[in-house]
Parts: sequence; structure tokens; C-alpha cells
Amino acid sequence: MIHPDIESVLLSEEEVQSRIRELGAEISRDYEGRSVLLVAVLRGAALFIADLARDITVPVELDFMAVSSYGSSTKSSGVVRILKDLDEQIEDRDVLVVEDILDTGLTLKYLLKNLASRKPASLEVVTLLSKEGKRRVPITCKYVGFDVPDEFVVGYGLDFAEKYRNLPYIGVLKPSAYQD
Ligand code: 5GP
Repeated sequence: MIHPDIESVLLSEEEVQSRIRELGAEISRDYEGRSVLLVAVLRGAALFIADLARDITVPVELDFMAVSSYGSSTKSSGVVRILKDLDEQIEDRDVLVVEDILDTGLTLKYLLKNLASRKPASLEVVTLLSKEGKRRVPITCKYVGFDVPDEFVVGYGLDFAEKYRNLPYIGVLKPSAYQD
């Protein structure tokens, strides 16, 4: 059953889960013999990190950050405030940042600069979705789940006004769901 506010399903639950299994296998190969600290950016990446962690076979630790952009909520300004910092020290650790969606890249650029200053042994990014066409700053993202068109998507952790995060698929909202 598709949610009545969803116009179309961009990525089905099966497509999302099967791609995450592939990413997990690739990450497990790349980090063979090491352990990896997965750092999710709340709240959108919460579902992705939970599934991805279970598809990684090397030892995994989890940590979380929460950030908010200054300025308008619909446009990324690139100025980021850390609302919740990591609990772990990351010096000399292999850190993999887990993102839900990479849009302009401004938020992640700030975050990576901040994390790099803490001198991790390595620092890479895995994003479930990427809107390549919207990128305003170059970001080296080692693992990309899917390239998606420049449409506002919800589901699988992604929200509109805190709704739709629990949909198991990624979909495009009907205009009636965000007008009024
Ligand atoms: P940026 O890369 O522009 O700095 O911002 C990325 C953040 O914008 C994402 O983590 C997400 O919170 C939000 N975002 C960008 N595109 C979408 C989208 O299509 N749907 C949803 N729900 N959030 C988005």
C-alpha cells in the first residue's frame, strides 16, 4: 500500500535494501582487518545506519551527530551549528560518515572539515542518495547508493515537516501534501 500523500515511488523497499546490502559488502571488503566507526548525521540517516551496520561484517561502532543549518530551512547556507556532538574520540580511528542525502554538499563540507581537524586515521562518506546536479561544492563521497533527480523526496528516514520518515521506500510527495 502506497501512502496517499505519495505521488510516485522513486525507489522501492526492495531496491533500497538490495543496494544497502551491496554497499555493506563493498565497505566490508574495503575495511577488511580494521574496525570502522560509523557516524550518522541525525535524524535522516538513522534508518540507513541501522540497516547498513547490519550488512557490514567487520567490527562496527556507531556514533551520532546532529546539526542544523543557520538561516532558511529550505536552502542550505553552509553555516552549520552542531546540536549534538560525537560521544567518541575519533583521533586515529577509521571514520565513515553516513548521510541520507547529499544535495548542495554545503552541510557535509562543513562537517568533514570539522571532523578532519580531529585527526582521524581515515575519513570517508557513504550517502544513500545523491543529487549530483545540485552540488555547489565538490565533495569526495566514496560510496553512493543512488543518484537521484532534483526532486524533493521523502521516506526511509527522509521527512517533510517530520512526517514520512517511516515509509520503507523513497517517494515523491504530491503537491497537495506540502501546499497548505
Ligand atoms: P546540503 O547537501 O544541501 O547541505 O543538505 C543536505 C540536507 O538537506 C540533507 O541531509 C537533508 O536533510 C536535506 N535535503 C536535501 N534534499 C532533500 C530531499 O529531497 N528530501 C528531504 N527530505 N530532505 C532533503
